[in-house]
Amino acid sequence: NSEECQLMEVSDTSTALSSSCRPLVDSVATFKGENIRVWCLTSENIWISGVVVSIQDTQAVIRTSDCRIVTASSGLLQPANPDILEGVDDLIKLSYLNEPAVLHDLTYRYSRDMIYTRAGPVLIAVNPFKKVPIYTADFIQAYRKKTGSSLHPHVYMTADAAFRAMVREGINQSIIISGESGAGKTETAKIAMQYLAALGGGGGLEDEILQTNPILEAFGNAKTLRNDNSSRFGKLIDIHFDNSGKICGAKIQTYLLEKSRVVQQAGGERSYHVFYQLCAGADPGLQERVKVRPAQEYHYLNHSDCLSIDNVDDAEQFYLLRRAMNVVQISNEDQEQAFEMLSAVLWIGNITFHIVDHDNVIVDENEGKLAVKVAAGLLHCEIHELVAALSTRKIHAGGDDIVQRLTYEQATDSRDALAKAIYASLFDWLVDRINKSLEVGKRRTGRSISILDIYGFESFKRNSFEQLCINYANERLQQHFNRHLFKLEQEEYTSENIDWTRVDFEDNQECLDLIEKRPLGMISLLDEECTFPRATDLTLAEKLKEHLRGNTCFKGERSKAFRICHYAGEVMYETNGFLEKNRDLLHADLLQLLSSCDSSLPQLFAAAIGEGLQKMLSPTRRANGTESQKQSVAAKFKGQLNKLMQRLESTEPHFIRCIKPNPQHLPNVVDQELVLQQLRCCGVLEVVRIARSGYPTRHSHNQFAMRYGFLLPKSLSSQHDVLSVCVAILHQFVIAPEMYQIGITKLFFRAGQIGMLEDLRQRT
Ligand code: ATP
Ligand code: MG
Repeated sequence: NSEECQLMEVSDTSTALSSSCRPLVDSVATFKGENIRVWCLTSENIWISGVVVSIQDTQAVIRTSDCRIVTASSGLLQPANPDILEGVDDLIKLSYLNEPAVLHDLTYRYSRDMIYTRAGPVLIAVNPFKKVPIYTADFIQAYRKKTGSSLHPHVYMTADAAFRAMVREGINQSIIISGESGAGKTETAKIAMQYLAALGGGGGLEDEILQTNPILEAFGNAKTLRNDNSSRFGKLIDIHFDNSGKICGAKIQTYLLEKSRVVQQAGGERSYHVFYQLCAGADPGLQERVKVRPAQEYHYLNHSDCLSIDNVDDAEQFYLLRRAMNVVQISNEDQEQAFEMLSAVLWIGNITFHIVDHDNVIVDENEGKLAVKVAAGLLHCEIHELVAALSTRKIHAGGDDIVQRLTYEQATDSRDALAKAIYASLFDWLVDRINKSLEVGKRRTGRSISILDIYGFESFKRNSFEQLCINYANERLQQHFNRHLFKLEQEEYTSENIDWTRVDFEDNQECLDLIEKRPLGMISLLDEECTFPRATDLTLAEKLKEHLRGNTCFKGERSKAFRICHYAGEVMYETNGFLEKNRDLLHADLLQLLSSCDSSLPQLFAAAIGEGLQKMLSPTRRANGTESQKQSVAAKFKGQLNKLMQRLESTEPHFIRCIKPNPQHLPNVVDQELVLQQLRCCGVLEVVRIARSGYPTRHSHNQFAMRYGFLLPKSLSSQHDVLSVCVAILHQFVIAPEMYQIGITKLFFRAGQIGMLEDLRQRT
């Protein structure tokens, strides 16, 4: 039906792949013959498969699989894999490792609901955005017993491997999950926990551990434009096992909660789930006791035009939250006090101010006044103290205390700062409380599996301090990833006695130096600038540009902007708000207010107050009303990351990379460009590239001889010893010596070598 075939011009630019991407085939493949199967990049940036009809100079004519005839520059072609490799469960098995081949493999499997695929040592999980029936008790049983002829890659398989290795070798394990927002990290972490709970269950703690999820999700997750249940904090949970392999405790560490969300959200996004759950689900008695009203009556909840989530019943979620809190043994009294604090936060948000003279403000009458009254009641402080803390500031000058009225902007800022501080303290208290319940008892063996669910690399139109912290964390994790995968490779080569020249990989040390080196790294410079009272976002930007120019990962831009070349691509940041966010200070008057609160949740404000007290004792710091001895946010985060990395370094890691197949959260839809971009960002291509620079294809001597021996003349194939048959095949088909290595039990090939033998095999 060649009449039906249309002639289409294929884009001739080689800019189809972004600059941050490294094609998997390092040099442009040359396609000499005809009838060769290839991948071809169309002008719409879509990879389609086809067969080469003819080639002249650098132009190829291709018949595509949907029966069109197209011409393409041969530079835009990539070799396609033989049919027997269709949908392989491990990308390392592909003879041709290139972007379209990887994409095709994942898509092929995904369309058959095989959402998990291995990339060598890494598990790739493509979010199905629908219920896939692979998490039942039967599946758990199958992976546990390794029954079923061909178990597909699965989170269960990864968790199982971790558990077995822990028991067998007595080494702590970690499961490190990454991916962009909405890719499925949190769900994957829960699936891994579910499996480990089944494996290590029986001690009674497994249910408690699983029930920490709804609690932390209520307080730390929110609806965003990217994900209806987006985690706004990072989390590491260590699950401890006793000598008999039963769970004997757990410990949770959280990282960098997004506090700003409590007081402000973008249109279409929500604050933390728990607020809406409380408003919708509190029974009349609780409503009365903690003075809670419907969500639409609160400024902090109603200003983003988004009060509910499709298919989610907040009242029901509240019921589930209470049940989970009961399981984790948080007393009813503590629960109610936590809700009291949540309600206080909401009422604080309803406090409004108006300008009396010049720039001075007082708290509004009517609704605003009611809000102050209720908030003070919930915080257990005096109304006049709350009003004073929000609308005035005590300044120590020339030995006297002077009371200064705040401007409108300062007053709303201090109101929001108070709300954020209370919420952050409550979150920390909650994590502490959960940890007390799950505390590893006396039977501790020191054996554990840690699961890390941490925010993925972020690059938006506008990037600020939060993105810098998040991307910094990802750089550290990437370094861990690289180091580890290289180590693994090397170990196998060594044990097989392979002569292997170390191949250098894309090292991200320079970028890490840029951020964390002392004294001239970004964090140090930022911290230093934070101690200057006159510093502004602009002076900070200038300082960064002056000192970091020499680092190749840094590019200064106009005014407050700069770029960092991260391993996953370039990101442009603006220093707006950097100083404020990094200082994260509560004004002295607010600290004093909190310390006077008679909240019955013990230690709720301890951390905030503890830091504040230092400041109050220091008269020089009192003069400008801020507390600068407190560790900066970046410095604290760096310390947390160091501890995290130390912890992970002491474990044997298992990596899971989650992929979001489309931005609309639809099942069965794969957006090629989006997936490729993630594969590049989360380093999957990097792993494959690392593997490629080594010898990714491995066959035991036996397998190899069996599969290709028949291609040899009889006299050669009938030799008795298997290794001789292998060598004969290598010689007969002129596989260049630098393309393979013979190990003690296996043959190792560079990528693409087996493709030729497979082709031969098919033709004969
Ligand atoms: P964030 O970084 O925003 O926290 P995330 O990577 O943790 O995102 P999840 O919240 O785990 O993303 O997943 C987003 C949604 O995708 C889930 O609410 C669920 O609807 C769907 N999903 C993820 N994994 C699965 C799965 N294995 N099976 C079915 N649905 C899934
Ligand atoms: Mg999440």
